[in-house]
Amino acid sequence: MNLVFLGPPGSGKGTQAAKLSEKLGLVHLSTGDMLREAVKRASELGRKAEEYMKRGELVPDDLIIGLIQDKLRDGELDGGFILDGFPRTIPQAEGLKQMLENNDINLYKAILFQVDDEEVVRRLSGRWYCPQCSAGYNYPAQMPRVEGRCDNDDTELQRRPDDEESVVRNRLKVYLKQTKPIEDFYRGESILTEVPAQQPPEKVFEALVKEVSSQV
Ligand code: AMP
Repeated sequence: MNLVFLGPPGSGKGTQAAKLSEKLGLVHLSTGDMLREAVKRASELGRKAEEYMKRGELVPDDLIIGLIQDKLRDGELDGGFILDGFPRTIPQAEGLKQMLENNDINLYKAILFQVDDEEVVRRLSGRWYCPQCSAGYNYPAQMPRVEGRCDNDDTELQRRPDDEESVVRNRLKVYLKQTKPIEDFYRGESILTEVPAQQPPEKVFEALVKEVSSQV
């Protein structure tokens, strides 16, 4: 099964993609995670991407499309995948369509996680993560046992620099302008489905599993 997850930053795409990919044995591909890793390694891609990411802008399409193309070419996506955070522009959606057609791969569904803007700002300003094991926390709903330390390995928790409120507001603007049009793109392909994501993560997961259940 091959899925695309759509939705504004903070809509829970990443959390849900991690859970669903584990349940169904799919590869979870987050372009945001790949880029953050590249920035950490200070690779050529990381150096090119960093300034865009800091401002909450999108990294140029050709860099991102190249990343996905490499994964497809290496056969890493052959067993089924969830794309989380890609595509994010119409040229990316068109690029993906072309790449999948060339490899005889079908998309099953594009799943849109629905939350409103104020909820996004609230969620992201309370988001913390462990740089060691990647565990995520959300203040005040999901606090670690000891404030500021990871429950798994006691590492000091960090915030993503682009979760600062002014950057979050810019990411939302970018989403509305550049990413939202993709909803219509997938509506046109008759594979868009919506999951209400302004509810506790377990409820969102239930709704998500129902959405994909005809294939489970
Ligand atoms: P995310 O973790 O998905 O919120 O992504 C964090 C940042 O990485 C975004 O604000 C963009 O700067 C960049 N990014 C991630 N995915 C893409 C994409 N598909 N196209 C362009 N930029 C991206």
